Amino acid sequence: MAVTETKSTCCYCGVGCGVIIEAEAGKITGVRGDPDHPANFGRLCTKGSTLHLTAKPDARALFPELRRNRGELRQRASWDEALDHVAERFASIIREHGPDAVAFYISGQLLTEDYYVFNKLAKGLIGTNNVDTNSRLCMSSAVAGYKTTLGADAPPACYEDIDHTRCLFIAGSNTAYAHPILYRRIEDARAKNPDLKIVVVDPRRTDTAEAADLHLPILPGTDVALFNGMLHLMLWEGLLDTRYIQAHTTGFDALKNTVREYTPKMVADICGIKEADLMTAAQWFGTGPTLSMYCQGLNQSTSGTDKNAALINLHLATGQIGKPGTGPLSLTGQPNAMGGREVGGMATLLSGHRDLANAGHRAEVARLWGIASVPERPGKTAVEMFNGLRDGSIKAVWIACTNPAQSMPDLNSVRDALGKAELVVLQEAYHDTETTEFADVLLPATTWGEKEGTVTNSERRVTHVRPALAAPAEARADWQIAVDFAHRLGALLEQAPVAEKLFPYTQAEQVFNEHRETTRGRDLDITGLSYALLDAQGPQQWPFPAGASTGKPRLYTDGVFEQEDGKARFANTLYRATAEKTDARHPLHLNSGRLRDQWHGMSRTGTVAQLFNHVEEPAILMHANDMQRRSIHHGDLVKVSNKRGTLILPAHNSADMAPAQTFIPMHWGSQYMSGLGVNALMPSAFDRASKQPELKHAAVKVEKI
Ligand code: SF4
Repeated sequence: MAVTETKSTCCYCGVGCGVIIEAEAGKITGVRGDPDHPANFGRLCTKGSTLHLTAKPDARALFPELRRNRGELRQRASWDEALDHVAERFASIIREHGPDAVAFYISGQLLTEDYYVFNKLAKGLIGTNNVDTNSRLCMSSAVAGYKTTLGADAPPACYEDIDHTRCLFIAGSNTAYAHPILYRRIEDARAKNPDLKIVVVDPRRTDTAEAADLHLPILPGTDVALFNGMLHLMLWEGLLDTRYIQAHTTGFDALKNTVREYTPKMVADICGIKEADLMTAAQWFGTGPTLSMYCQGLNQSTSGTDKNAALINLHLATGQIGKPGTGPLSLTGQPNAMGGREVGGMATLLSGHRDLANAGHRAEVARLWGIASVPERPGKTAVEMFNGLRDGSIKAVWIACTNPAQSMPDLNSVRDALGKAELVVLQEAYHDTETTEFADVLLPATTWGEKEGTVTNSERRVTHVRPALAAPAEARADWQIAVDFAHRLGALLEQAPVAEKLFPYTQAEQVFNEHRETTRGRDLDITGLSYALLDAQGPQQWPFPAGASTGKPRLYTDGVFEQEDGKARFANTLYRATAEKTDARHPLHLNSGRLRDQWHGMSRTGTVAQLFNHVEEPAILMHANDMQRRSIHHGDLVKVSNKRGTLILPAHNSADMAPAQTFIPMHWGSQYMSGLGVNALMPSAFDRASKQPELKHAAVKVEKI
């Protein structure tokens, strides 16, 4: 049998590396980096280079399963039985309780085409905005930060800016672990340019912080105070670009009045850093050119939008945006959170970067879809959706390509919510996730190496993802499952012709072409892209309007922004403490994050033995003094608890942790650790604007057992 080679992308992080999949006799046998892909130029990290080892049938969901009554075990069913059952239950709930009694919880790991169809199914056919995604846990504060200041959800910089910058300001990101191939690019830039300064803002001394010229180990949640304090110093030091502020921005005077209060002494006290280090950071940033990179440390916070906006304020105040080597560049956690945002696959958004709250945008989408209207009622965002299941206002939930019983905050209440739901539909490639036990219906989906569609990475680059293999057993493409369901539901709701018209697709490319049309004239216009062009010319950055020959590597080069008056808006950001404070009973701060060689809940990476070589088992990292005070020795089992839950795991003495700070990796769930995983301890409090929950901080106590 001949070996076939198929160009695709890695399905893990938002760097979006290109891969070449090798397959033989119906099996994926190898993977290597695509030397032509501009995100990685042939390189892959440990996760990407072992992707072929994850293509194992034993862990997969391969056939539909169904139980008609709670308390029964699910049995294998045909696709017709399973989808008819779900359509009948959805139709009956919608008739009795209205469209907002059902909800869809989808994923930043879906392809753009999958996302588009689910969004249209909820908002276009059913008439509910209850469609949200695990991207709410990942990037929604970055979205809100961009829109508040720049007027559109568009990361202005690109990976190439790493080669042009003189100050790389990394905040709330362990890039070396979470975005390893981008980090290789940082190492290369540093080797070529010894003058490059790297500043890392992180409560932990991560591998990224270890390699920095300046590490600012701020206390958890104090980023806004830090950024306001830097702006205060830049004002005093004459580091601002007053001509740029005057010509291209509004709102600076109000912010100036605010940051006057953020004196170096006050900021150093709030953040727990030295005044001299604050001054160094302000000088390096202000002198520039400065590129900032940031991730969940800013986003997963009850002040996530303000953290993003306060950092963007620094770029606007110093005129460091739209020029080589400058600008804010949010690092997308998941491979296609960007694509999901583009199609408006969230409770607060609409297709083509439109806003649900905007009546004009709702009318445009209704016209594009050929329906009377898009519902105005706001949909439930992730935490609200599970609260709705618990209080009974939402009766049925359809979960696709994500594992909320491990990934949501306050897991005990999420599991309670799933248990109370009248119907849980789970569309998954893997059979045994934490969420599977709650599923009344399990629908087997295709996954990496089997799917066709597009993804967009952190630098707005769209890649055509191609299948190397046919779907295994009875698994089907995610968008196709949603289309099959839409036709059945339409018939039951006496809207069969509407459903036929809304969902005519037989190929992913038809979905892409329709999505493309919704972007016409918008900031992300991709009307010049097609599968054929992506195949012929390779991955492209948006915007790429019809008639263009290339995309734009960086945005706002002309100083014109997406706000109505064309000017960027300074956000008047105020520091607010974390939702939960430490106290005498719960005196330690708990942080969480990624390991280098694992991905999310380990459905995929957990099947590869060599990915446990880096870190074998979960542990809580603690400062030596905190361990000594509790008579805990390295390796001792400890109980970590607060009012939401308890975990039992080994404690490790770590020089990376400051006193009173602890860290548990996010990956292990109920099957590996006594308890449900670290998110059982995290609060469900969320940011007022972005609705993103604070997954990066809880107060806990640690006891030796
Ligand atoms: Fe995959 Fe991210 Fe590693 Fe690239 S850096 S190979 S996208 S996990």
